[in-house]
Amino acid sequence: MLNYTTQSRWPNGFGSQQSPIDLKNVGAVHAGTALDFEMRNAYGLTSEIDDQTTIRDLGDGAATIFGRQFAFVQVHFHAPAEHLLAGQAKPFEIHLVHQNSIGQLVVVALLVDVGETDATLQQIIDQFEPGQTQPVHIQLGKWVAEQPIGFHYLGSLTTPPLTEGVEWLVITNPTVTISSRQLAWFKAHFQPNNRQVQPLNNRRVEIYTKQE
Ligand SMILES: [Zn+2]
Repeated sequence: MLNYTTQSRWPNGFGSQQSPIDLKNVGAVHAGTALDFEMRNAYGLTSEIDDQTTIRDLGDGAATIFGRQFAFVQVHFHAPAEHLLAGQAKPFEIHLVHQNSIGQLVVVALLVDVGETDATLQQIIDQFEPGQTQPVHIQLGKWVAEQPIGFHYLGSLTTPPLTEGVEWLVITNPTVTISSRQLAWFKAHFQPNNRQVQPLNNRRVEIYTKQE
């Protein structure tokens, strides 16, 4: 099982373009008013896995991401969040992993606040079986606003093998919230599973938001 308390010793043969990062408005390049991310059909979750450090649900769906077609592959969860906003961590981060026909990976990260109970998260919690992988039939709720805002940058997987060349969309205005009860359930079942933020190393970070 992946041990987050010894993460500084995770093998990393890459190193200069790692994720997560601390996202800041200052220094980010304003590149548009909204991230170009659209779920083209409802994402369906078909299999739920206890991977010991988080819950991972495999599924299917299709998205348009900056004009390109991607398939939805899986969703998993981090508590607290991995990406920081000006040094601050949200309590929860959802990773929607996408891949296209030539193997390019795009992770759409949702930075989630505590608020209302989310029905999809509750189904995922209710159908969780410790130590098991089992079939599920869960339709993902509409977790993303019509005009998603946030950040776009090139990074890596946040778990070994920490492979680089992963494109990140970090959405800061998702419509999904997690209730304090749901968050408590997650923390009771899993240790903190956030990788520490990594050096930016002069990477370009784009911000998509309405101009003030
Ligand atoms: Zn993740």
